[in-house]
Amino acid sequence: MKISRLLLLMMMPFVLMAQKTYIHCGKLIDAAGNNMLANKTIIVEGNKIMEVKDGFVTPGATDKLIDLKTKTVMPGLMDMHVHIETQTKGGASSDRFLRQPQDIAFLSVNYAYTSLMAGFTTLRDLGGSGVNISIRNAINTGTTVGPRIYTAGKSIATTGGHADPTNGLKREFSGDPGPIDGVVNGADDCRKAVRQRYKDGADLIKITATGGVLSQAKDGSGAQFTEEELKAIVETANDYSFKVAAHAHGAEGMKRAIRAGVTSIEHGTFMDDECIELFKKYGTWLVPTIIAGKSTADSAKIAGYYSDIVTPKALATGPKIQAAFARAYKAGVKIAFGTDAGVYMHGKNYLEFQYMTEAGMPAMEAIKAATISAASLLGVENILGTIEKDKLADIIAVDGDPLKDILVMGKVVFVMKDGKIYKQ
Ligand SMILES: [Zn+2]
Repeated sequence: MKISRLLLLMMMPFVLMAQKTYIHCGKLIDAAGNNMLANKTIIVEGNKIMEVKDGFVTPGATDKLIDLKTKTVMPGLMDMHVHIETQTKGGASSDRFLRQPQDIAFLSVNYAYTSLMAGFTTLRDLGGSGVNISIRNAINTGTTVGPRIYTAGKSIATTGGHADPTNGLKREFSGDPGPIDGVVNGADDCRKAVRQRYKDGADLIKITATGGVLSQAKDGSGAQFTEEELKAIVETANDYSFKVAAHAHGAEGMKRAIRAGVTSIEHGTFMDDECIELFKKYGTWLVPTIIAGKSTADSAKIAGYYSDIVTPKALATGPKIQAAFARAYKAGVKIAFGTDAGVYMHGKNYLEFQYMTEAGMPAMEAIKAATISAASLLGVENILGTIEKDKLADIIAVDGDPLKDILVMGKVVFVMKDGKIYKQ
């Protein structure tokens, strides 16, 4: 008893003098409002934002001061579509025979670090082998450094569909993958695949509602799930509090997925007017990934970069995403920032801001798409996405004014995640 009281007394000065961090912001985008704010002080204690005050408040003697008076400060950026396990390179389709999971893990550590240094403090990983779940855990426990990751684990596809991992293989190697590997046929398989992802420790469900560009299959846009299958996935996902992200290029697969109740459509390339109406009716998010379209179309022009079956799809699909985004934005569809990082080089995510603004979205809205809107899509808007009292201290700064020159989003000079500084 006596000893514990003594310990408490000894610790008191430290408790009372807990160090706070005062961040002096010349410019501040808090992402709660729509205006650029000037001359503010963010006070961080532990992993939380305690207060945002007017002017440059002088810190106490034991506190820490971060001077960002010549920078623009904003919430940590959130990319809602990445693949943390992979990164584009010519001839990569043979990697699945050559890389051990351990090889994938070491590479992922680098991609995660690169993303964090680029100002992306939160990522939604939409599909990999399962290493994506391990790296999320390793980051959460402090074993390695990276952004907060919400991951789908292994994506769910139908046989031969986009994300059937055995597409294009010789029959003796392809076998007959099932729900555990994310390949489903019929409603029962769908339910099992969702439950398996719960067991694996995924945070959400990713499905490939239509064909896609980089799979070793001919069709890049046709519907690949029945309505019944989609319903089974969404209903089961709801039971486990999973949101569902649906990759979709073609209109029919997109409509089926929206009607089934998915949370977001990824890409949305060939959306028609009916799709747009459905997006609005169901409150479905669009995650555009314009950069992925542009980058795959560019790579497809390099001989041998993709396989013969992928190249024509990349050329036909990639360049159309930006125009689809422009139409959806104009029509009032909800947009959350997402890039398909991995399909292009990790760390270049900021280029999406340029493509979004080129297509007619004001810079402030594009930044909100990558902060508060992304947080809403994830369902974590109560703890992330803005710089406000009681939110987690995920804060970055860029060198310059992104409302005047959007490319300064690539000049990230300060990164704080969970109250801890990773770049200064
Ligand atoms: Zn993707």
